[in-house]
Amino acid sequence: MVKRPAEEALESSSESPVSKKARVQDAPDQDLPPPPPPPPPPPPAEDAERKGNGHVNGGSRGMTSAQHDAIADDIDPEDDDDEEESATDPRKAAPDERYSDLYLDTISRKNMDFDFEKLCSITLSNINVYACLVCGKYFSGRGTKTPAYFHALEVGHHVFINMETKKVYVLPEGYEVKSKSLDDIKVVVDPRFTPEEVKAFDRRRVPSWDLLSRKYIPGFVGLNNIKANDYLNVVVQALSHVSPLRNFFMLEDLSSRPQLVLRFSTLVRKIWNPRAFKNHVSPHELLQEIGLRSSKKFFLTEQADPVEFLSWFLNHLHLALGGSKTKPRSSLVQQIFQGMLRIESQGITARANAGDRLRFEDAAIKSQTTPFTILTLDLPPAPLFQDDAGKNIIPQVPLSTILQKYNGVTGQEKLNTRMRYRLLHPLPPYLIMHIKRFQPNKFLQSQRNPTIVTFSPRALDLSPYVEPNPQSHPTGEPIAYDLVANVTYEGVKVRDDSVEGEAERKVWKVQVREGGDSQQWWEMQDLFVDKVNADLLATKESYIMVWERRKTGGKGNGRAG
Ligand SMILES: [Zn+2]
Repeated sequence: MVKRPAEEALESSSESPVSKKARVQDAPDQDLPPPPPPPPPPPPAEDAERKGNGHVNGGSRGMTSAQHDAIADDIDPEDDDDEEESATDPRKAAPDERYSDLYLDTISRKNMDFDFEKLCSITLSNINVYACLVCGKYFSGRGTKTPAYFHALEVGHHVFINMETKKVYVLPEGYEVKSKSLDDIKVVVDPRFTPEEVKAFDRRRVPSWDLLSRKYIPGFVGLNNIKANDYLNVVVQALSHVSPLRNFFMLEDLSSRPQLVLRFSTLVRKIWNPRAFKNHVSPHELLQEIGLRSSKKFFLTEQADPVEFLSWFLNHLHLALGGSKTKPRSSLVQQIFQGMLRIESQGITARANAGDRLRFEDAAIKSQTTPFTILTLDLPPAPLFQDDAGKNIIPQVPLSTILQKYNGVTGQEKLNTRMRYRLLHPLPPYLIMHIKRFQPNKFLQSQRNPTIVTFSPRALDLSPYVEPNPQSHPTGEPIAYDLVANVTYEGVKVRDDSVEGEAERKVWKVQVREGGDSQQWWEMQDLFVDKVNADLLATKESYIMVWERRKTGGKGNGRAG
């Protein structure tokens, strides 16, 4: 696979990999010789040999051997979606062209939801899954004895789409329908984009309308909270607004990559789909894979910490894209987000001198450089008590103050070691900051620091926190970053019967900025999407921030300060 570096302009990638694929699939069947006479009936289904054939391998992750056998029995050998087989199967010969569209008016687009994991509703198999375009359910099949075949016979639903190849078939007859009127469905199953289309997203915002005539802006759509996956939704929204990452997952041919990559790519493309049937997307497929890969540490039934999830997800995306465990910047993920940090540590020993006064002795300074993907910022301790009027004091701190941790001068004492941190050139194109609000507490599971971090979303200068290196960056020249995504925490009080009387439900929201020069911000909380004023960003409890480095250097267009 040819990788297009993130920094490279979109124009340079010649064409979308999809169009190549489409050409192969569109090879006209008319050139095939006329079908031979019907073949002898297939061997009995109990044929032991078939259980070991290619169908069962691959894709059937996480299933018991009993399930494997069930699937092997369910899948007819003729149901292999091979290009050449249609010539040998009389069942698949299309009828007279006038009749091939016979069942298309039974298709119901409002029943279609292709966001859920593609598992046969009968066998739970994920092999050869078709969606019924009448009721929307998934069935494996399409040969005789398959669930899709029986669904067609028993319920009388006749039009099915293969979720892999996106070919549409009429069952039980088994012929393929090649009507242009089905193209909109194929787009919803698996939206594809040209580099030109992707580039246009950041230039102008074009509204779309869904099946129910609801207006939406591609890229600024809600994500379903299936049960407790809002922590994941905010991370997915933030990442899908990091242009080079988004463009890569929208345009690159990732078909040979692991499921985690494939499913994230599909989700990003659905978020930006201008031809969607619904004005929101469900992250169900990606969640299922993440649940599996993380041994349910991150799943849809229980809230998790967005920053822990982000760290896990970036690391696993990095590995799934072929990134190295040791070599820095060896995948697109690290090329976008990874920076380097110098850590100095100095042991401190205290001893009493002759006059019985404590004397501190500084040991030698140890210095090491280490890569980082997420920059952790500590908050000053929050006041524990209310003021005289009984009001809660909401403490505030400027972002530039908590960034002082990285100025290389201020020391932080950790046990009996003094630590100093400093960023190194070059800073990454996108800088992720984590404002550490949650501390483990001996009474509760974690204690939250509600301090508000104040900042301007434009032109944050990071040069004071970077070790000078004139070869890489002129000393004294600012390094400007603009905010592109901001994940915020909100504690919503809920009544409960516990001793404390009131519990707090964690609510995660994300604010993302439109691309290009636009200063319009949007806020998403699961399905809720609304415009938000940029001035309000710094009034919320920011938890994760994603900053984009200005390409024109620091001074250029620093109109905001
Ligand atoms: Zn159906």
